[in-house]
Amino acid sequence: MTNNKNGLTHPLYLLTVLSSVLLLATACSAPEEPEAPQATEATTGTVVDDVAMSDVSQGENWLAYGRDYSEQRYSTLDQINTTTVSNLSLDWYLDLPRDRGLVSTPLVVDGIMYFVGSMNRVRAVNAGSGQIIWEFDPNVSDNTGNDLRAGWDHNRGIGIWKDKVFAATWDGRLVAIDRANGKQVWSVRTFGAEQPLYITGAPKIFKGKVLIGNGGTENGPSRGYVTAYDAETGEQAWRFYIVPGNPADGFENDAMRMAAATWTGEWWKHGGGGNAWHGFTYDAELDQLYIGTGNGSPWNRKIRSPGGGDNLFLCSVVALDPDTGDYLWHYQTTPGESWDFNSNMDIVLADLDIDGHAVKALLHAPKNGFFYVIDRSNGALISAEPFTETTWATHVDMATGRPVEVAGARYEEGPASVSPMAWGAHNWHAMSYNPDAGLAYIPAMHMSASYSDDGVTIEDWKSTPFMEGDTLGVALVPDTKPDTVTSTLQAWDPVKGEIAWEIPLSGTWNAGTMTTAGNLVFQGRSSGDLVAYNANNGEELWTFNAGLGISAPPISYSIGSKQFISVLVGWGGGFAGIGGRTANQHGWAYGVHPRRLLTFSLNGNTEMPPVPPPMIPQPLSMPEFQVDLELAGQGAGMYGRCSFCHGGGAIAGGMAPDLRASVMVGSDEAFANVVRGGSASENGMPTFASLTDDELLALRHYVRLQAELTME
Ligand code: CA
Repeated sequence: MTNNKNGLTHPLYLLTVLSSVLLLATACSAPEEPEAPQATEATTGTVVDDVAMSDVSQGENWLAYGRDYSEQRYSTLDQINTTTVSNLSLDWYLDLPRDRGLVSTPLVVDGIMYFVGSMNRVRAVNAGSGQIIWEFDPNVSDNTGNDLRAGWDHNRGIGIWKDKVFAATWDGRLVAIDRANGKQVWSVRTFGAEQPLYITGAPKIFKGKVLIGNGGTENGPSRGYVTAYDAETGEQAWRFYIVPGNPADGFENDAMRMAAATWTGEWWKHGGGGNAWHGFTYDAELDQLYIGTGNGSPWNRKIRSPGGGDNLFLCSVVALDPDTGDYLWHYQTTPGESWDFNSNMDIVLADLDIDGHAVKALLHAPKNGFFYVIDRSNGALISAEPFTETTWATHVDMATGRPVEVAGARYEEGPASVSPMAWGAHNWHAMSYNPDAGLAYIPAMHMSASYSDDGVTIEDWKSTPFMEGDTLGVALVPDTKPDTVTSTLQAWDPVKGEIAWEIPLSGTWNAGTMTTAGNLVFQGRSSGDLVAYNANNGEELWTFNAGLGISAPPISYSIGSKQFISVLVGWGGGFAGIGGRTANQHGWAYGVHPRRLLTFSLNGNTEMPPVPPPMIPQPLSMPEFQVDLELAGQGAGMYGRCSFCHGGGAIAGGMAPDLRASVMVGSDEAFANVVRGGSASENGMPTFASLTDDELLALRHYVRLQAELTME
């Protein structure tokens, strides 16, 4: 429900026009010293393969999502360091006027930067100047089915293997793109366009294979899986299901047979879940692949598996054979999960000295609030200590490796206030690890919510696909008020199992981290600040305000002898859409603030053009619109899918227009043109062609009721 093109003049639309004019005048800053690498060099320089991605010592390139196979996001460059960082300044910028939520990690190979923006559009730019070399548009809006519409803007990254770039699209395609010219080489569907699944993650590439999973546990009945494809041809190499299907159909492998013993009832009717939408790590040293798995579908175990059970492989780190997809071992962080405590977060490889023993460890800080150190040779738990408040479990029993739960936390005796909550103590925002400092840097969140399944008919519950009704089996009310939600940047010592230092941050949804051999940690904030800290003690050494909330993690690379720091600026991700009052408090209203790629160096002398100040949309008064409470009630159920972009309670987090402030909602014709007619599809507003006149009317009454309830 985007600002339409019908000449309606409300304040947001005017601001959009004004900032577009500004953008045209200053589209891309002129580089002072163009070291223009040619696109054709891409095939004659660094060969991006297992050898290159295993080499953690090189610093000039950023070859994969977590820089190299370790996923440490640790750059060996040190020209920018604790002493010189005060001279860090803007070197070049690229305006991205068609983008909205920018959450991805750019990749750099031999002076060319590749990144993905809104609607899975991929670009290659000169990493020394920002000049665009090519752009690839997978036309997401033309490839989705009729219903796969909610929250389709953002994606966290792409992959590179040799002469190709790989992008996974919202609608389920895995696409190989020629690195030299941006042309599509092959494309495969990883799920059907009409399935209630989606992709936001970066493909993982290893040994000539490209791996991708999907999200969808909140979209309806869903059975998670990951699939590996041949990088050259797109041919499927193997698929691993994360939860068992109907035993009557036979199990795919022994792992599914083993997993099925931990489920009860007829779980397959609800899908089961476990969808792997983010954490994929390839361990070249041990030749193992690690998958972080998702929560249950639905969340409420009483429905999903009524007789209890751990429900493997939900909320686990699962090790697989990278050649065959065969199960090797697993560690489950939240057995029988019931809170959306998925374990999809980053899986970081690190060599640790534990009590005098060299351990090949993996580090994992999932939603449930515990920081796990696991021996990755066999999956044995080394430590699990809480890095935030964990009111659902007192501790993890080291003898069994299991959390010791607090009675009542499963809302088995009525509503239960639980911390962390569904957004997690840590979500997908990147965690980095500095092997010199021996610390992991976690963008942590501190929230709690009341979980209740009062009123849910456990026996007869049915999931409704595409968020048109209850897909969770439990209701969630955040306890934390918008202005008291806190988040922190935490430096975690994985050997001692404790916090080394911690910085309180405002609001929530602060961005991921990157760390360097210059003894620095970089993090963007929801406030728009990009900050450099001393990696050892958290001292703030440098700040640049980007004029818009940052949601993407920074990277570092070099061209010649010059080190760069680069970050995409574009308030985004799920919370920036649905987060309501908590997300909108920063004032990153839709269409107001320019989206940009910013790149810094020690001798940059580029000025960023001025940015409009933060602006919080206010509900419009419409005395002529008489709200009908019954219609508004009908609209409330339908609004679920709108909320993923336009915000919970119709309070937009910034990813899409705030409908309470939209004059369009006052006109049945204008509303129908945009919502059903697709007149704003160019701006990212999906077309809901099947909505009836009555449904559109109900939606308008729901939005207007929310406007009146929140009017000051
Ligand atoms: Ca989830």
